[in-house]
Amino acid sequence: MPGVILDGTKIASEIRAEVAADVKSLASAGLRPGLAVVLVGHNPASEIYVRGKVKSSEEVGLYSERHTPAETASTDELLALVEDLNRRDEIDGILVQLPLPPQVDAKKVLMAVDPAKDVDGFHPMNVGFLSTQRPGLVPCTPGGVMEILRRSNIPVAGQEAVVVGRSDIVGKPMAMLLLNANATVTVCHSKTRDLPGVCRRADILVAAIGRAGMVTRDFVKPRATVIDVGMNKITDRAEFERFFAGNEKREQAFAKNGSTLVGDVHPEVAEIAGAITPVPGGVGPLTIAMLMANTVRAAKLRRAAAVPVG
Ligand code: NAP
Repeated sequence: MPGVILDGTKIASEIRAEVAADVKSLASAGLRPGLAVVLVGHNPASEIYVRGKVKSSEEVGLYSERHTPAETASTDELLALVEDLNRRDEIDGILVQLPLPPQVDAKKVLMAVDPAKDVDGFHPMNVGFLSTQRPGLVPCTPGGVMEILRRSNIPVAGQEAVVVGRSDIVGKPMAMLLLNANATVTVCHSKTRDLPGVCRRADILVAAIGRAGMVTRDFVKPRATVIDVGMNKITDRAEFERFFAGNEKREQAFAKNGSTLVGDVHPEVAEIAGAITPVPGGVGPLTIAMLMANTVRAAKLRRAAAVPVG
């Protein structure tokens, strides 16, 4: 029997509606949370992401502004911009869109963001807060995965969770969030021995690898919950056939666009999983929704004396 499809688009819109209601009630207390997005140069994918973030901010009623330094911007110029945003009281969240051009010291720029405004949750101070279970800002994508689990009533405490991937952005914070929620957590990576065998132990399997369809049915315990963070664009017809042969809807989209998105989990896994996030429409929509939620949270944390932190 095919598993339940965990509808990330629906969950993300619920979160956005909650954020919009929160923003409205903050407005009556005279506060409008503000998000500043920094987009350096003209990376087409980054431009699309930033457009989505600004549009979503407007929809939930946040104040937002976009800064677009030239492709040639230096580390010092970006540090000056970040310092200015750190100082401005009406800015609660600062997001520096990655990747930055090669001449820029990206770590230095991210470190300069005031941890209280670090809505991406990448600053070492927020990493430390997460690992010591103190209030802070949590990275948006793994935070969104926890919301999918919580809002779908999938138990986490006491469950075996396996996270494949150990990036600072997804894998590590994902593992920490699951651990904080009392799962028994295993983290896998490119040096893990018998990856399918380790993954088969999972009640909750999270794939954050960046390899199209790598997690096949032999990685998955029947009825497990499978969360697919991967977003891989495929353009090759043979690869398309490997994943989507016989899928008419995908076929039409592929013929029209010349590409389609596939996760790190092979679509065949839906047949044995108990619940699974689709790609697209699973984890992806949660990332922007959680950015909105983080901006409101940052505003509340910074002004904790004035408004209660939820
Ligand atoms: P990343 O920084 O490239 O990390 C990939 C991780 O996967 C690494 O820890 C790597 O292990 C591991 N890995 C690679 N090949 C492996 C293999 N053959 N076996 C086992 N482990 C392997 O990627 P990321 O930034 O975490 O992103 C992961 C995926 O999520 C990508 O597809 C990305 O596009 C997607 N993503 C989606 C969203 C969203 O909003 N849905 C947000 C962020 C990322 P090592 O550490 O040993 O190299």
